[in-house]
Amino acid sequence: MRKKIVAGNWKMNTTLEEGRRLIEAIVDQEKPEDVTLIVAPPYTHLSMVNNVIDGQEGILLSSQDCYLKESGAYTGAVAPAMIRSTGATYTILGHSERRSYFQEDNATVFQKMRAAFSEGLKVILCIGEKLDQREVGDHFKVVQNQLEETICKFSAKEGKDVILAYEPVWAIGTGKTATADQANEMHGFIREVIAQNFDNQFAEQIPVLYGGSCKPGNAKELFSQSNVDGGLIGGASLKAEDFLAIAGSF
Ligand code: 13P
Repeated sequence: MRKKIVAGNWKMNTTLEEGRRLIEAIVDQEKPEDVTLIVAPPYTHLSMVNNVIDGQEGILLSSQDCYLKESGAYTGAVAPAMIRSTGATYTILGHSERRSYFQEDNATVFQKMRAAFSEGLKVILCIGEKLDQREVGDHFKVVQNQLEETICKFSAKEGKDVILAYEPVWAIGTGKTATADQANEMHGFIREVIAQNFDNQFAEQIPVLYGGSCKPGNAKELFSQSNVDGGLIGGASLKAEDFLAIAGSF
């Protein structure tokens, strides 16, 4: 049995005070027992959120990105060791918004993964095709390439702490969700690519989350699919009730 995981990517939302209210509301709600929650607030909120979730079972902290260097003169950048020092254990990497607005390619994502692993930071690795790539039937190729140029370059020992998140770019923040069949088909394909590059056992245990307009109203159908192990939630993670309702949708 793979772990069930629901992660909330707050993106560039909430002031420190709003973020405090959000995490306090999440902590106050009843959590489904067998689901791991991960929250990914902005960097500025990591320590505060860590204090609020301290001692809570089944809720982990993640950053939304990290820089690829250990330390030094990189104004504005945040290193994996700094993130670890806040109490966070995960970082999201390769999000499509980083790829498109900050020109990050697979090689950058690979370097960031290497930097994260060297500090013991685990990775939620985002992959997914754009609309035009799906329309011409390139979606499997694009996702295969994203995997082969990042996670597949690591050993199984390094890669074992990775959570994959399939986020079709055309479904992010658009209200258009992939159908449960589309998601499951791609998740199955992702597992095949992982099996070819590692082995079957590795592919069977790696969690693959779905992300893109996932909401309380569609989470149940998505999470009922055999290869969907949970969700990476954007907009709906900004309301404690919605986030917990999604977590309760397995
Ligand atoms: P939405 O849930 O707002 O579509 O965002 C998904 C996402 O990008 C999570 O990382």
